[in-house]
Amino acid sequence: MDELNLLADADARGLRYTEGNETRRVFPSNEAIAALSAFDEPLPASGLPAGETLALLDGVGSPATTASNGPRYFGFVIGAALPAAAAAERLMLAWDQCASTFDNSPVSATVERIAGRWVLDALDLPRESAVGFGTSATACTLAALAAARRALLARQGWDFDRQGLSDAPEIKVVVPELVHITVKKALRILGFGLDRIRYAPVDADGRVDVARLPLLDDSTILCLQAGEVNTGAFDPFAQIIPRAREAGAWVHVDGAFGLWARASSLASLTEGVEQADSWTTDAHKWLNTPYDCAMAICRDPQALAEAMNCDAVYSTASADAQKNLTLEFSRRPRGIPVWAALRTLGRSGIANLIERHCAQARQIGEGLTRAGFDVLNRVVLNQVLFRCATDAQTHAVRTAVQASGETWFGGTVWQGRPALRISVSSWRTRDEDVEALVRLLAGLNQNNPANPANPAT
Ligand SMILES: *Cc1c(COP(=O)(O)O)cnc(C)c1O
Repeated sequence: MDELNLLADADARGLRYTEGNETRRVFPSNEAIAALSAFDEPLPASGLPAGETLALLDGVGSPATTASNGPRYFGFVIGAALPAAAAAERLMLAWDQCASTFDNSPVSATVERIAGRWVLDALDLPRESAVGFGTSATACTLAALAAARRALLARQGWDFDRQGLSDAPEIKVVVPELVHITVKKALRILGFGLDRIRYAPVDADGRVDVARLPLLDDSTILCLQAGEVNTGAFDPFAQIIPRAREAGAWVHVDGAFGLWARASSLASLTEGVEQADSWTTDAHKWLNTPYDCAMAICRDPQALAEAMNCDAVYSTASADAQKNLTLEFSRRPRGIPVWAALRTLGRSGIANLIERHCAQARQIGEGLTRAGFDVLNRVVLNQVLFRCATDAQTHAVRTAVQASGETWFGGTVWQGRPALRISVSSWRTRDEDVEALVRLLAGLNQNNPANPANPAT
């Protein structure tokens, strides 16, 4: 097959797959998973036809996908891909641009600059901030925390780039007790040492308890979060951040999904978050761009650009070049699907997406309460945390749901006991999908007052 025929074949297969999004099993069947053994071939000694390779990928691979790009997937906060963003991504694949600098790709540099400006507008963050487009919130958090440490050390006269960490003044870290695991990963990679991190106690909703916040000073990085993964709760930024900044601490906010609440009528949940020094957020979660796309946002552009500097060593880093803002040197123009999503949604479209998911989450929370489940969180965002009366029943519901192929969501541990977690984050999810989810779960709950299997009936 020549190149154009091959690409047309790929497009046709992609379109057929997309057509099946509504009806596909949400988690693949055991048969589809077993069939993956077809990939287990030795590396061919000489090349095989590209058309055949694509046919294998589609034939065996497509049935073994998780339908997170469909309407009935409620696991983690995965989000589907908006058509506008997915379409832009397709064109970008044809371009095959390297987005490191203007010289490498004028269009990438230009559109990512606009996308960054629009992200600051949508999230109402300080307009002077730098926005680096990276692969994940994990990588962007690593970049932001590296910038934080370097800046705090510089304020104490320590040249981190030349002297490294040996004999450097100690930089302390305070994180919420329920900090996301990837923030811990970033801290560990940066050499902060998990046993040295101080944990800020949280309240019953998973928000940092202001009264019990550890002491902060000018050699402390304080991490807060916008959207706790279980409850969707927001730390009380307005009460904490001014205090932290007054003490000279650097405040970083992990807003992987929750920061997008700021672009909706739920913005008051994020009050005060704009006073932080740096933020991380994903586009591939709640903004529904394709994987993988995230942003490191830093109030002081130079702090991020110097930490991630990839210009000649010790020259002044330019905050205009994306290669100086994230870990990646060569990468696709990830800001372009962000730009396409934002342009197609507009302010009102972003707000509608967020508000609809939050309303659907409330609807799920109410339905599950009626069906006799213990809903464990105040449903303030798109997360519903719940469990059954006993751990065995919780486990049985999780197993039945995951095997059903009708829907998928995962388990978690909340206050020491197993729980189940539903996230609403796909633009495809309609109210009827939410109703079907509640019906399915109500039927599975032995404690459902309306369930014939309920011993009380
Ligand atoms: C998903 C998530 C992350 C990590 O994001 P990646 O893009 O998967 O690296 C960090 N924090 C929170 C709260 C998350 O939900």
